[in-house]
Amino acid sequence: MAYDALIIGGGVAGFSCAQILGSAQAKPFVTDKKIAIIAHQKASMLQDAVFYNAYGVASGKLGSELLEESKTSLAEHYPQIEQIEHEKVVSVVSQGNRFVIQTNKNTYESTIVVIAVNSSHSFQIEGLMEYVMPHGKSLPQKNRIQLKNEDQRVATNLYVAGTLAGHRSQLSIAAGSGAAVATDILTLWNNGIETHSHDSIR
Ligand SMILES: Cc1cc2nc3c(=O)[nH]c(=O)nc-3n(C[C@H](O)[C@H](O)[C@H](O)COP(=O)(O)OP(=O)(O)OC[C@H]3O[C@@H](n4cnc5c(N)ncnc54)[C@H](O)[C@@H]3O)c2cc1C
Repeated sequence: MAYDALIIGGGVAGFSCAQILGSAQAKPFVTDKKIAIIAHQKASMLQDAVFYNAYGVASGKLGSELLEESKTSLAEHYPQIEQIEHEKVVSVVSQGNRFVIQTNKNTYESTIVVIAVNSSHSFQIEGLMEYVMPHGKSLPQKNRIQLKNEDQRVATNLYVAGTLAGHRSQLSIAAGSGAAVATDILTLWNNGIETHSHDSIR
């Protein structure tokens, strides 16, 4: 299967990125784009979390509920975004002008890849290890990692979002990071002309 953009990681940053790309579907430079998210959730920081301090999230919301709701909400509002479940990415290898993404079950290709798999030191994705460095905003004893990046761009057409981009671990920051990458991708697809995606009641 070949995509224009493939998001890896079904947590906060990954789904936030997918939502913005999904919401931009009507834009002429997005209509023909094939987008997917590898919605692996077993290793999400959301699993044991409860939220009282995340903007826009109802107080007391469980992270485990958010994980489920992000899948159903994306499927309901933006069904054009393919959700690939129960697969874990093992390698992301650059081949010419595309990436080949290998999971434990399948092989995919994509022009753009967004890595949103969080800052756990267990990170082990072949093809990306050269970008791994200690997390710049976490305590050394926590042993967190990030990918080297400049404004979330790791290399041409390769982006990182969420805690793995070097951000502190807060839901709102991770969501904003995924959204920021999505708008960078939209701007790229719009030939470099700034763009973003708003819905309005007007
Ligand atoms: C116990 C706890 C309580 C917290 N409480 C709060 C709080 O009160 N307020 C607050 O703002 N923040 C809180 N947080 C932090 C918040 O949950 C994180 O900052 C946020 O989830 C980070 O988002 P992320 O997208 O970087 O990572 P995640 O949300 O962890 O998403 C990463 C995703 O990548 C997937 N993945 C991992 N490896 C692979 C792979 N190889 N292939 C494919 N997918 C993969 C994972 O399964 C996961 O779904 C808490 C965290 C924890 C652990």
